[in-house]
Amino acid sequence: QKPREAFVTLATTDSYSKGAVVVAKSLRRHGTTRSIVVMVTPNVSSTARSALSEVFDEVIVVDLLDSQDYLRLSLLGRPELGVTFTKIHCWTLVQFSKCVFLDADTLVVSNVDDLFDREEFSAAPDPGWPDCFNSGVFVFRPSLQTHTQLVQHANQHGSFDGGEGLVELLLQLLAGHRSVQTLPFVYNLSASTVYVTAAFKRFGHNAKIVHFLGSSKPWSSSGVDSSSQTMSRYWDMWWTEYRKDCEKEQGQSRQRTGRKQ
Ligand code: UDP
Ligand code: MN
Repeated sequence: QKPREAFVTLATTDSYSKGAVVVAKSLRRHGTTRSIVVMVTPNVSSTARSALSEVFDEVIVVDLLDSQDYLRLSLLGRPELGVTFTKIHCWTLVQFSKCVFLDADTLVVSNVDDLFDREEFSAAPDPGWPDCFNSGVFVFRPSLQTHTQLVQHANQHGSFDGGEGLVELLLQLLAGHRSVQTLPFVYNLSASTVYVTAAFKRFGHNAKIVHFLGSSKPWSSSGVDSSSQTMSRYWDMWWTEYRKDCEKEQGQSRQRTGRKQ
């Protein structure tokens, strides 16, 4: 039996679902041969879910609060951690042997199936603090044992920033236990510093996955984010992808015939 591999994203709200739709469309545009799945929480509306099911192979409902009581208790005191905990649920997708997690605010601009040649754990540096990994793009192996370890660690140690830093902490923990590969920055490209803007001129043409990291997301405004001129081209590409008709069926037939778009 062929091992099943998948790209995975997460949407806990209708607006992040818009981002997730673009993740799937852009993966298909670049001819992925892997499954594309999205985890949603029960509060995501049926309208948003049906839009997701048009472009994803599977829409998997996960609980914002885990069934384990210790997690529920800890979440009661720290509701803002819920979303981050939900991301950890990707390790429960044991129907797949290997996965690549992509934040819902990423845009795939080239075929990235070569990420499945990488091992758990692989991630790219964070642009704000390059010694840390950014948790927007990472390669992992689903495992209930790892999931439990991550949840327990999260409960004991919390997060250094109350949010995404938690995943970073967990990923560092995993990395400490197994070999870690640093992905090239072009697999998680975000413009957050002047240096990136300068380096972008030289290396930007190699971009593979663009990450709209930060508080301003393409779907929350129709214009280009003026603070991020470097990204304006990708901001436009995001909107083009979002407005395009769903091509799930076409994308699959392209895969079968092996034709490139
Ligand atoms: N997310 C979500 N709902 C939220 C916040 C985050 O579903 O309310 C998911 C979504 O997949 C998102 C990821 O968690 O891409 C990380 O959050 P975000 O991308 O906003 O963080 P940033 O990359 O800007 O640090
Ligand atoms: Mn993100």
